[in-house]
Amino acid sequence: MQMDFKSILGENCKTGELLKDHTTFHVGGECKFFLTPVTEEQLCLCMDIIRKENLKYYIFGKGSNILADDRGFDGVIISTECLNDSIVHDGVYIEAGAGAGLDRISDYAMENSLTGFEFACGIPGSLGGAIVMNAGAYDGEMSHVLYQIKILSEDGGIKWKEASELELGYRKSNILANNEIVLAARLKLEHGEKEKIKAKIEDLNDRRREKQPLEYPSAGSTFKRPEGYFAGKLIDDAGLRGFKLGGAAVSQKHCGFVINYDNASSEDIKSLIKHVKDVVYEKFGVKLECEVRMI
Ligand SMILES: Cc1cc2nc3c(=O)[nH]c(=O)nc-3n(C[C@H](O)[C@H](O)[C@H](O)COP(=O)(O)OP(=O)(O)OC[C@H]3O[C@@H](n4cnc5c(N)ncnc54)[C@H](O)[C@@H]3O)c2cc1C
Repeated sequence: MQMDFKSILGENCKTGELLKDHTTFHVGGECKFFLTPVTEEQLCLCMDIIRKENLKYYIFGKGSNILADDRGFDGVIISTECLNDSIVHDGVYIEAGAGAGLDRISDYAMENSLTGFEFACGIPGSLGGAIVMNAGAYDGEMSHVLYQIKILSEDGGIKWKEASELELGYRKSNILANNEIVLAARLKLEHGEKEKIKAKIEDLNDRRREKQPLEYPSAGSTFKRPEGYFAGKLIDDAGLRGFKLGGAAVSQKHCGFVINYDNASSEDIKSLIKHVKDVVYEKFGVKLECEVRMI
């Protein structure tokens, strides 16, 4: 099987890769295979093998919303980071590959005087991961700008889908439940003024640097926003600001972030997440739901 993947991907098929090198939390043990297809054809061929051999697999974008277990992943990780890594535009439509970084797309939009994607400039994810998560910030989210996506479906077919078919909701879509892989997407933006777009991007990046613990590894906001509350405020009010468990901590700067403070294990982070949930529920009767995907 290794030979099959190697013959398709060459150097882009790795064995025993540590997932901590591919997640922004910087935790995670070895996986059996770490595949980085560059073309759709390579991805399709790899998926054929995976399905034929009934192998366990998981898709990675930039790993900025994933907590990987230190015991590793007994299967195939497919990184989409280099998949279709191109960005082009036609009028107000931008088409980009799933692996394109949100920062690159927002820069591209700015360079072409297209507005509407500034919200995503500081989210350290890929386009594919952002669509799956319906990522959002500062009153913007992917559902506001997403027009169509190109997917590889469970039966091996490739097709374009309308954004309206994805059931995009707060930090969710139906893509994973349908076992689909995002290959590329089209965004619909608006014409704007380059200088204004640039100023907005700078402002949003400043706000992030000021408010978020970007100096520590994390996966961003650990919890979804519970209806009617803010997770960070509940955690702060529960007295958990800066609370540490092993190498994991609730950020001093932003209580909504669990951070890898000092060589945390995945168990440290999971235990801390559980502790935060338990205390917040006990004190306020609010159930926090994890935004971070655990594998
Ligand atoms: C410092 C920091 C700040 C953050 N700020 C924000 C924020 O403001 N708003 C926000 O919403 N999020 C934020 N995040 C979380 C994260 O960046 C987003 O959820 C991002 O969209 C995830 O993209 P990714 O490429 O890293 O996806 P990953 O973390 O690699 O994957 C996320 C999920 O998508 C799936 N997936 C990824 N790519 C594909 C694909 N091509 N096809 C099918 N499935 C795929 C994975 O299987 C996984 O279930 C932040 C994270 C960090 C570390």
